[in-house]
Amino acid sequence: MLAPVRCFTCGAPLAHLWPEFKKRVEAGEDPGKVLDDLGVKRYCCRRTMLATVAYIEELVVYTHIGFKKKVKPY
Ligand SMILES: [Zn+2]
Repeated sequence: MLAPVRCFTCGAPLAHLWPEFKKRVEAGEDPGKVLDDLGVKRYCCRRTMLATVAYIEELVVYTHIGFKKKVKPY
């Protein structure tokens, strides 16, 4: 749902790499080459980056109900 914060297997931090990875892959670059450039060498981390489906933008559309309530200011 969200971008991967850490590798699910080894715990290496990946969140800082996600925006560039996503941008370059959406621009048409080969995902394996992008991961090589970003220095992601372990196959567990590569799996985590490649298998992530970040669909939070699509899900946010359905969360408007809770946000319509006004919160009283203090
Ligand atoms: Zn890993």
